[in-house]
Amino acid sequence: MDTQVGIVGAGPAGLLLAHLLTRAGIESVVLEARSREYVEHRVRAGVLEQGTVDVLTETGVADRLHREGMVHHGLELRFGGVGHRIALSELAGGRAITVYGQQEVVKDLIAARLDAGGELRFETAAEAVDPGRGVIRLADGGELRCAVVAGCDGFHGISRAAVPEGALSVFEREYPFAWLGILARAAPSSEELIYTHHDRGFALHSMRSPEVTRLYLQVAPDEQLDDWPDARIWEELQTRMATADGGFALNEGEIFDKSIAPMRSFVAEPLRHGRLFLAGDAAHIVPATGAKGLNLAVADVRVLARGLRALFEHGDEALLDDYSDRCLRRVWRVQHFSWFMTQMLHRLTGDPFEARLQRAQLDYVVRSRAAATSLAENYVGLELEDV
Ligand SMILES: Cc1cc2nc3c(=O)[nH]c(=O)nc-3n(C[C@H](O)[C@H](O)[C@H](O)COP(=O)(O)OP(=O)(O)OC[C@H]3O[C@@H](n4cnc5c(N)ncnc54)[C@H](O)[C@@H]3O)c2cc1C
Repeated sequence: MDTQVGIVGAGPAGLLLAHLLTRAGIESVVLEARSREYVEHRVRAGVLEQGTVDVLTETGVADRLHREGMVHHGLELRFGGVGHRIALSELAGGRAITVYGQQEVVKDLIAARLDAGGELRFETAAEAVDPGRGVIRLADGGELRCAVVAGCDGFHGISRAAVPEGALSVFEREYPFAWLGILARAAPSSEELIYTHHDRGFALHSMRSPEVTRLYLQVAPDEQLDDWPDARIWEELQTRMATADGGFALNEGEIFDKSIAPMRSFVAEPLRHGRLFLAGDAAHIVPATGAKGLNLAVADVRVLARGLRALFEHGDEALLDDYSDRCLRRVWRVQHFSWFMTQMLHRLTGDPFEARLQRAQLDYVVRSRAAATSLAENYVGLELEDV
């Protein structure tokens, strides 16, 4: 045996798992196909649930997060040109979200891993996993023999493919739109996130720091970035986000990052096959409207780390046997919430009946305390124990 746990992928799932295992005295090796530079600068999610912040804080990797992250106690739903605040913390028992870029979480976890002297091999791609023997075959011809393999290699990784087809059930939905996301050197135009429903499509105002705004536009799934020069992006954002009273001013600035991401729901069940455990995007994808992908990856590895601790400390496999069912309950709750937010906020088919239903739902969410509470508790994230 080369190591107790072989971890494929140094995204949030793989890095946090390695960190939790180190603290529990369990040895692991993390294999990452890309360079350190690449993973530390990959722009993706930025909304951390309360539970995600809590686990990073409790395990000593949140000093910078607490210095630089922005705590939000509410968000705005804007439709018909009018904004409505959802008081997240007031409705969800004081819990909040923190805006802190995923790449910053990744940087903090890499630093913690290296400080602890843990093994983290960049530019080392895994080629295949043998779930029966616990062997990871490396692209350079070598192999790593492990008691357990954690497949944390994202949606396009190799781990999921190691589960024989007959043993895996896949549930999937492609949405007929994508998100064009930008980072701009401009101060945020509002202190909170603004989710905008507009006849021309969805728009989201978010931020990464007091100097950097993160903005998204719903676009067609086959849209090319070349068709979106900066001026067109700003014009579309200004149109969709304008308020009826003309009181909202969207700050513009230099766009220094631009990307298009598809909107997809995907779940592969079960999350365990033999010695292989799938976690994070390797097993499930949610449309970004609920801001859940990163948080779900964190929830999976919290459960997995507890199970591995019981295994290595007491030889007790009960928690690991329950790993898949336990995580899938949360995965499907989050899938539903992400689908709900997506359906409610995007321009769907253009069918006027559908548009009226969406408007009725939006009206209800902002008028009914019960409906707003449901949105709030899902958005800040349910406690690990509650799902
Ligand atoms: C393009 C994109 C944009 C996103 N934007 C948002 C957003 O705006 N808001 C939001 O809430 N969520 C967003 N998400 C979702 C969120 O970022 C993911 O849910 C999160 O990254 C999941 O973490 P993970 O560790 O499971 O997977 P990942 O972060 O994908 O990490 C997997 C790691 O495995 C490595 N790897 C892959 N194959 C191999 C191999 N064969 N051998 C070794 N290493 C391998 C990869 O290089 C990567 O570092 C986005 C996701 C993507 C892909």
